[in-house]
Amino acid sequence: MILVHLIRNEHMNVSRIFSCAVGMFAVTQLAAQSSSPTTLIKAGRLLDPRSGNVLSPAAVLIENGKIKEVGPPPKVLTHAPGDVKTIDLGSATLLPGLIDGHTHLFLDIVRPPEAEAQRHENGIFAPGNLLAIVESPTKRALMGAHLARQDLESGITTVRNLGHSGIDGDTELRDAIKAGRISGPRILASGRKLITRGSYLQNLNPAIADAILEQEFLLIDGPDRARQAVRQNAFHNVDVIKVTADENLTVPELASVVEEAHRERLKVAVHAVDKISIQTAIDAGADSIEHGNEVTDEQLKQMRDKGMFLDLTPTSYDGFLRKIAEQMVVISAASRAAYASSAPSLKQQYDQLVERVLKSGVKFAAGSDMCWFYPGKTRGEASTAAFVNLRAAGMPALDVIRAITSNAAEMLGWQDRIGSIEPGKFADLIAVAGDPVIDITELQRVEFVMKNGDVIKNDFASK
Ligand SMILES: [Zn+2]
Repeated sequence: MILVHLIRNEHMNVSRIFSCAVGMFAVTQLAAQSSSPTTLIKAGRLLDPRSGNVLSPAAVLIENGKIKEVGPPPKVLTHAPGDVKTIDLGSATLLPGLIDGHTHLFLDIVRPPEAEAQRHENGIFAPGNLLAIVESPTKRALMGAHLARQDLESGITTVRNLGHSGIDGDTELRDAIKAGRISGPRILASGRKLITRGSYLQNLNPAIADAILEQEFLLIDGPDRARQAVRQNAFHNVDVIKVTADENLTVPELASVVEEAHRERLKVAVHAVDKISIQTAIDAGADSIEHGNEVTDEQLKQMRDKGMFLDLTPTSYDGFLRKIAEQMVVISAASRAAYASSAPSLKQQYDQLVERVLKSGVKFAAGSDMCWFYPGKTRGEASTAAFVNLRAAGMPALDVIRAITSNAAEMLGWQDRIGSIEPGKFADLIAVAGDPVIDITELQRVEFVMKNGDVIKNDFASK
């Protein structure tokens, strides 16, 4: 459609466009020929997260990047061609590739020292975020590509990148991965985050504040501006709209975002932590509420009735974020004491949130919300460690797995493509040595990763 639009409006040389299209076709053909078109994977067990059923032993036949058949090995083998490439994973457990419903591949914030954090409105996040915006976009893009690859190597085959990637960082990274230029997960890109003025960066030089803000955000200031922001992101071909709700955002403004986004067939993910923002998101008809830490039982009921998703982000659960910080900065005795006194009740609140969410019947998924530099861990290792926090918060292991596979696929609107191992879906598979339903930390030790039928890593092969 975009191409047609260009031809009509810009009077471009039609024959040149046509020859470009032929060139692209030739490249696609080459890529298809260079990889083995059919692969058979055998494993001791295969978990269907939706039902919890385990197929044992299991085989998956993959053709041209998609799953063709799933079943017991003797049966699947009869339908495999003679030259099929077989990958035997021994007694491993196969699962669908993991989906991180909420991440930030273009931020790798180094925790500042306490004195620095205290002089900013949003402390630990502010200086790093500002630096990410004002430094070279090229530097940032290369970092994003690096972190994306690390996510994939840990078994995260799809991510939803919800803001903080400059103007077009995540849409371009998505397209570069799609084109096979670099290796990384499937990306649903939100482009710039829609915010009210002052949500993220304060104390900027007024003379250049708008120029800085516009590198990272689109400002909502009234319903018309809200619609315009959605259209600006749509111009960059985003997959989803991300909005941050705070007490300054009104229901008519957010409702305009939702209406315009839905017209463009885009879902709207709304960052909302406190009760007022959560109610704004519910009343405006958001598709998912991100974080949702202070959601009430009545609000969970409203969300369930409207079919809205709650996307849990257990990133600061039980001192998780604090453990990262402790490796980078000296924490004062006063800060340690303050944390020690508040930690038990914070943990209890999150445990209760998880319990209330499960009891309410609301649809839920999970995201790592990783945007932090974690010394000694890759981004993928940090993200899978964050997922595992949900188990510690009392969520049964199978529900944790659902939150980052089948449930997340539905939240993204991609349930026909990813989130389970069944015919017709993309061949995005991972395998772990043990049983993740018994020990969820197996997800931190993913040993086999396949995306789109291509083996990204297979540590079983070297054992
Ligand atoms: Zn976030």
